[in-house]
Amino acid sequence: MPANTGNLLLDSLSPELRAEILSLGRAIDLPSRTVLQEQGERSAYIYFLCSGVASLVVTMAQGGSAEVGLTGHEGLIGAMQLLGPALMPSQSYVLLPGSALRVRSEELCQLFHGAPELRGRILEFLQQQCISLEQTTACNKMHEAEQRLARWLLMCHDRSRQNTMTLTQEFMADMLGTRRTTVTMVAGSLQERGMISYRRGKITILSAQELEKAACPCYRICSDALHNLYRRPSAE
Ligand SMILES: [Zn+2]
Repeated sequence: MPANTGNLLLDSLSPELRAEILSLGRAIDLPSRTVLQEQGERSAYIYFLCSGVASLVVTMAQGGSAEVGLTGHEGLIGAMQLLGPALMPSQSYVLLPGSALRVRSEELCQLFHGAPELRGRILEFLQQQCISLEQTTACNKMHEAEQRLARWLLMCHDRSRQNTMTLTQEFMADMLGTRRTTVTMVAGSLQERGMISYRRGKITILSAQELEKAACPCYRICSDALHNLYRRPSAE
């Protein structure tokens, strides 16, 4: 039986299928800022993240960009390529360093169509991403910067499983589509209330429970979708 990989989707598969995917892939390190998928292209590889966190970002033609999703050890980068021929609408890059199993897109696509168990899990992962995307789209329009920053930090925390994360203010401002001065003010307020500590680009979550009280209810909705992944036996 193949050893667990640390990727929740792979580890939820039957040992035979997991072994087959492992035989197709290559374990790689993911340094911070590695680009995994380019916007407007199709990638030769799909990545099952075993640790670390990747961000999905849409850049506008006139400049400026915004984050549209986060993926960690619960899923894979490039799954949308398996659904059809469209070019990818977002760039994906490594936000927090980690490791992944890299598989050629063509080979995974064949397996996606040939193995209902794998297809079911990947569709389940994509459903969770759609739930988060819909919720955070509404959130970004309707909720205050402090609620959104708290939600986003908790979402990074859940995926990275690290209490201390390297995240610059400039970076957080880009992710939240807000000004850097707003991030400074909001992060300062969360720090004063003892929920986080923020020093030299490193954020430490001191109390996830308290931080959730500062976050909007969107966090719980996204978090439930994440924690319910792969809980039920596959229908096949
Ligand atoms: Zn919200």
